[in-house]
Amino acid sequence: MSEPIRLALVGMGKIAHDQHVPAITGNGDITLAATVSRNGEGVDGVPHFRELADLIASGIAIDAVSLCTPPQVRRTIAAQAIAQGWHVFLEKPPGATLAEVAHLQTAADSANISLFASWHSRYAPGVEPARAFLAHADIRKVTVTWREDIRVWHPGQAWILEAGGFGVFDPGINALSIVTRILPRPFFIADAELDFPANCDAPIAARITFADDHGVAIAADFDFRQEGPQSWDIAVDTAEGTLTLHDGGARLVMPDGTEPSHEDALHGEYAGLYARFAEIVRAGQSDVDIAPLRHVADAFLRGRRITVEPFVE
Ligand code: NAP
Repeated sequence: MSEPIRLALVGMGKIAHDQHVPAITGNGDITLAATVSRNGEGVDGVPHFRELADLIASGIAIDAVSLCTPPQVRRTIAAQAIAQGWHVFLEKPPGATLAEVAHLQTAADSANISLFASWHSRYAPGVEPARAFLAHADIRKVTVTWREDIRVWHPGQAWILEAGGFGVFDPGINALSIVTRILPRPFFIADAELDFPANCDAPIAARITFADDHGVAIAADFDFRQEGPQSWDIAVDTAEGTLTLHDGGARLVMPDGTEPSHEDALHGEYAGLYARFAEIVRAGQSDVDIAPLRHVADAFLRGRRITVEPFVE
């Protein structure tokens, strides 16, 4: 058995504490060797640094980093890590632009290190069984409803509604990461409307229609203003009935009404991500699929911009 991968966590905010720390602690192949955050709390007993440069200067032995910062600053930190020869796990979205992710991939290949563009929703338990069923299904229509309350789920995260923060595509890209995984054919944006609050540089809602070459329509409704019941659902109408993924992929209902999986949202997703990261590091590979990010970029390229009322948290 090889030595555990010595990993530093960077950007000790919500997702780092809620999901990364427990997933790393639960993975015997990875050890948390350091944390880096300008203001965030570290972890008891683990060396903590304010900047990545301070970690580098400390000389602590590190093999890999996980970047849990907002996307706007991810490329610069990833480039510093790659220059150290460290493997890099990128939280979703893997960057703020397509060009910077392509560049990180080239830099990682040249440095012979592993780059992981993680998509946690793809590790929800309903996703792979849905993909297996849909590989041979006669698909008629796909409806994606991703409506959540930004005030409940992202309090104090001003970066989300700033330029490069993705706005409603911060959660919406999770839906796209699932849809690009479970549908058997590529699809393309036909039409998009993006609602920008008058005081923000990122959209608070978006309605997108995609189509594939077989004429299947995929309608996505993303909204950050949802109060009351929240929705993270994907319904796929097929000749045999409707397959539905609820709760971000945690619960799958097959067309015949059976439920092969039903777990709490996010449960197990980060354990799956870290198992995959350890696997690609050991195998000397990278795993970078930009399909979800490409659809978001296309929505910005192709969509109509609508100005809506200002957003005040
Ligand atoms: P967050 O709570 O705001 O944490 C991000 C951390 O990054 C901050 O604590 C901050 O720590 C650090 N940071 C570094 N540079 C920053 C900058 N220029 N502006 C703001 N913060 C900066 O955000 P989060 O919810 O953990 O999300 C982080 C990433 O994980 C996002 O890409 C998000 O899409 C993804 N994610 C989030 C969730 C979720 O449920 N929240 C789920 C899955 C994935 P310091 O100020 O201490 O440096």
